Amino acid sequence: MSDVKNQVFQDISKTGKDRKWRERKLKNIELAGQLDILGYRSFERVYQCAEVLKFVEQSDGTKKLYQSYFCKNKLCALCNWRRSMKYSYQASKIVEEAMIRQPKGRFLFLTLTVKNVIGQELNQAMTDILIGFNRLMKYKKIDKNMIGFLRATEVTYSKKLDSYHPHLHVLLMVKPGYFRSKDDYLNQEEWTELWKKAMKLDYTPMVDIRAVKADKGKGLKGAILETAKYPVKPFDVIDEKTDFTAQEKLQIVDDMLTGLHRKRQIGFGKLFKEIKKQFDFDDLEDGNLVQTGDETESRATGREIVAIWNWERKNYYIKS
Ligand SMILES: [Zn+2]
Repeated sequence: MSDVKNQVFQDISKTGKDRKWRERKLKNIELAGQLDILGYRSFERVYQCAEVLKFVEQSDGTKKLYQSYFCKNKLCALCNWRRSMKYSYQASKIVEEAMIRQPKGRFLFLTLTVKNVIGQELNQAMTDILIGFNRLMKYKKIDKNMIGFLRATEVTYSKKLDSYHPHLHVLLMVKPGYFRSKDDYLNQEEWTELWKKAMKLDYTPMVDIRAVKADKGKGLKGAILETAKYPVKPFDVIDEKTDFTAQEKLQIVDDMLTGLHRKRQIGFGKLFKEIKKQFDFDDLEDGNLVQTGDETESRATGREIVAIWNWERKNYYIKS
């Protein structure tokens, strides 16, 4: 006999995967506790994130979220999961459209780095990197071949060095002529030199540039779409493979929040930016986190399912 009142909520995707609301909520609660200790007033909002979830059941049995409250904290596991779904959706739609409009365009994947910085320097480093990146994109030799780009800023923490590694992942769509002549093509050393110049560095930074190549099963388009989706890490900043003490975790949370404060981690440029505007895509970082993709595709049965977080039992239960 099942006790309807105590039914544990489950959300299984179309492909049979558990969508892990509970695990994410537990991480969110840990963050809220850390914010409270650190004296951030936002801790209450973070506790309230996704406490009540309202879904509409779809005809295939899956659940579609239609109402909830999200705290939008930069380190919230729930919000960042929603952001990365939204990012994947928008990035693929934009890149697909760009490929229709400029079928001869070629794709490059660029990684730009600077030296590690300590916590107190992170916010300034993030500002500098974005200024440097904008300068780089305006260099004549780069600009003349550029069709569109999308950039994602990522920050990782190194326990060994006790410092932060801010870097940029960029998907570039360039004119086919880029590969044809020496006047257009830039090799790895040239990209490195230009990045060094744009950042006004007194050392040689690590820069990686590669052409996006067709991948076996998915072909070129598949590989490009995969690459576009790759930089979702900005939304997954704390490496869970490394063990941290409670004190270390507090320090990282504090440094990351200060470092990421008012920083836009995702940006679209040129044709990609135009398409984003034409598609009327909502803001990725501060926008709505309930709807993350194309909401018109699925059909609903109309049945509503409400899941509520139970603070004592630390799980979501279905409201009967
Ligand atoms: Zn949240």
